Amino acid sequence: MKLFWPERVFFEQAALKYPLGEKLYKFFKDEGTEITLAPIQRVNSCIPGNSPVEKYSSGKRTLVVTVKKSLKFDICKPSADFEFSLVTGCPGNCEYCYLYTTQSSKPYIRTYVNIEEIFDSIKKHIDVNKDITTFEVASSGDPLSVEHITGSLAKTIDFFGNLDNARLRVVTKYNYVDPLLNINHNGHTRFRFSINSRYVIDNFEHTTSNFDERIEAAAKIASAGYPLGFIIAPIMIYENWKGQYRELLETLSKKLDTGKSTEPLSFELIQYRFTPTARNFIQERFPHTKLDMDETTRILKWGKFGKFKYIYPKETAAEIKEYLTSLITGTFPDARIDYFT
Ligand code: SF4
Repeated sequence: MKLFWPERVFFEQAALKYPLGEKLYKFFKDEGTEITLAPIQRVNSCIPGNSPVEKYSSGKRTLVVTVKKSLKFDICKPSADFEFSLVTGCPGNCEYCYLYTTQSSKPYIRTYVNIEEIFDSIKKHIDVNKDITTFEVASSGDPLSVEHITGSLAKTIDFFGNLDNARLRVVTKYNYVDPLLNINHNGHTRFRFSINSRYVIDNFEHTTSNFDERIEAAAKIASAGYPLGFIIAPIMIYENWKGQYRELLETLSKKLDTGKSTEPLSFELIQYRFTPTARNFIQERFPHTKLDMDETTRILKWGKFGKFKYIYPKETAAEIKEYLTSLITGTFPDARIDYFT
């Protein structure tokens, strides 16, 4: 896929005091990219766009280079002990992006340049009473989507490679892995590729790496000895869904050599779900969406604070779970299925 290139970049003054901020400023200036120095509070009003589609699309082509101010990390159960960010947002256009409800109508991408301060904070969050403390770096954005610009994930993997009692977890839909293959990661970073059938990726996950690119990237990560996993999400029912998910597992089995890591391959399985709020966003931003959001064919799943989402009926969910589980265990008998939800 074509690597992301922002149409405009905003720099906060404070970001220029850090080596990465200074480097990025010079880089974009030399490239002739539109640059604006502005506090983050002004960014939204400076991004063009009138209609919801224009605002969304302009935001996705805007990068903000800034400083991560809050260095107190949130708990990130069940995926990890803590989460931290190198990047917030992502240039991808997945119709059902999990970040919708946390973003403004102009979902710009933020990258943080105070990497050393983030590393200091990681050290402070390591629980000395535990053997291992785990950190998730992809809860609020896809760190690989801008890695070709920042190089921050490579530094973070190297940093974790030298920590005995901490592990890093990454999730991505991108394939820009080549610069990560020769890092001394020591098996301390687990990569999980968010993957799906061809139909789902091609129709709903715009401007992310495609089916073949993600699998090829996963194969490279496996060959470099990283612990590896897959998040198959969102799993959807459509014509020939079984054939296409079978193709996914068969392709993984042909392409992957998982023998270099001592840790088992992991799978996380998530059925398609939507909330009324997410459906409104989707219909506003992707008026021609092919997503099946017919609530009459779903049941309600209640969450905290009286919120609910639409999920497949119990029998359908059980069929998805059973089918995907049989594909995985039949293809990778030593793999671990962490959960189906
Ligand atoms: S890749 Fe992830 S973060 Fe980016 S748009 Fe898709 S779901 Fe959202």
